[in-house]
Amino acid sequence: MDRFTKCRMVATDCTFCRIISRKLPAEILFEDKHVLCILDINPIHYGHALVIPKLHCKDFLELPQEYLPGIFHSAQVVARAVVSCLNLEGFNIFSNNGRIAGQSVFHFHLHVTPRYEDDNIKFVLKLKSYENGEMEKYAKLIRQHIKMS
Ligand SMILES: [Zn+2]
Repeated sequence: MDRFTKCRMVATDCTFCRIISRKLPAEILFEDKHVLCILDINPIHYGHALVIPKLHCKDFLELPQEYLPGIFHSAQVVARAVVSCLNLEGFNIFSNNGRIAGQSVFHFHLHVTPRYEDDNIKFVLKLKSYENGEMEKYAKLIRQHIKMS
């Protein structure tokens, strides 16, 4: 099975595929051969943008390697524009993968969202510490599953 098997050029029941094929409206910021960049219809802050590959892959794991540079380059292009025009001091880039991680459209996308001082948006994290030997155990386990191709 090659890595394109799970991805399709278009899924007719997918909101982002319908935007890409102009069957649904969106505020398009720019596009190129592989990527469409739009405004999120329900922004965290005004100017919150989405970077969407023009290939229907449900999440980060399904994305073909060839799409990665274009997606991250596009995220940088739109982040520079948003930071410049809104005079931002900070922004977030993130992606939700899987329902339990908050993914709502199952076509991979990156969020680029403005941040403001005291905007009260935060991940509420309770950070852990590794117990004796646990960090090495997790590192060994992950290293055993690393596949570079
Ligand atoms: Zn799609």
